[in-house]
Amino acid sequence: MVAQRLDGKACALSVEEELHGRISVCIAAGVKPHLAVVIVGDDPASHVYVKSKVKACERLGIKSTHIELPEATGEDEVRAVIHRLNEDETLHGILVQSPLPKHMDEEALTDLIHPAKDVDGFHPENLGRLVQGRLDGMLPCTPSGVMRMLKWAGIELSGKRAVVLGRSRIVGNPQALLLGAKGADATVTVVHSRTKDAQSICAQADVVIAAIGRPEMVGVDWIKEGAVVVDVGINRVEDSTRERGWRLAGDVHPDVAQTAAWLSPVPGGVGPMTIAMLMENTVRAAEHTANL
Ligand code: NDP
Repeated sequence: MVAQRLDGKACALSVEEELHGRISVCIAAGVKPHLAVVIVGDDPASHVYVKSKVKACERLGIKSTHIELPEATGEDEVRAVIHRLNEDETLHGILVQSPLPKHMDEEALTDLIHPAKDVDGFHPENLGRLVQGRLDGMLPCTPSGVMRMLKWAGIELSGKRAVVLGRSRIVGNPQALLLGAKGADATVTVVHSRTKDAQSICAQADVVIAAIGRPEMVGVDWIKEGAVVVDVGINRVEDSTRERGWRLAGDVHPDVAQTAAWLSPVPGGVGPMTIAMLMENTVRAAEHTANL
């Protein structure tokens, strides 16, 4: 079996096409969607992600405000920036790029973002709604992007055995909630670093979502013939055959394509979907402001 490609890039394009119309309606109602992206420090990967987000705004005609602060910025100053952005009525979405420098309490800072502007979907109020099974709020972008991509590919989840590798606040935990929610109806197992015999648990799954940050750890013997595999991982690994000396690798070994029915590529899988969902959350927040 050679796995079909779960093409996140193509799915993200279809999301963007739909958003164009919704953005025109917002603008006609006098509200131009506006996203603020705050980045603190010099982490090169974070700067690449922020650039992709700003570029997506440009493609769609969403206004973006990009705020860059030096590594040595104090937590108080970041707090003041978030408060100012919360008060700004022309702004609909606020994103604080993760990771923040080590001297800052990232969770406490992102908790300050007004829930209605929390386009990353990490505020306790938004995550709390998800726990309650209310899926109409701001959903975290990466797991909701995975769900959208599976739906777009026509992959049925109801009654399927799903394994989520990872239990982070950003990906694994909300992913498990979304897969098990009413409407998706998968039966979900969460695997983490203390799980015994993760490989055999995974090998029984119809659907595997890998979000552990361990390059190519999920090998071909982890995956049942015909399973659906979504690779969330983005890892930099050394590669002397490349001019730049590194390449991007997922959490799933490429040989899994021999066993799986579907496999998402890295790059070009979940990454573009995360950005598309961020754009959708921003447009949803603007629609809310415009009473649409
Ligand atoms: P975290 O480091 O926050 O969480 C990793 C999770 O994986 C933890 O729950 C950890 O378990 C678990 N884990 C680690 N090692 C193992 C192991 N050997 N066996 C089983 N479980 C393990 O990472 P994130 O959730 O933020 O990100 C995961 C990956 O997804 C990363 O590669 C990241 O770059 C990528 N990512 C990609 C995005 C995209 O847009 N495509 C967006 C966000 C992230 P424990 O809780 O026990 O420590």
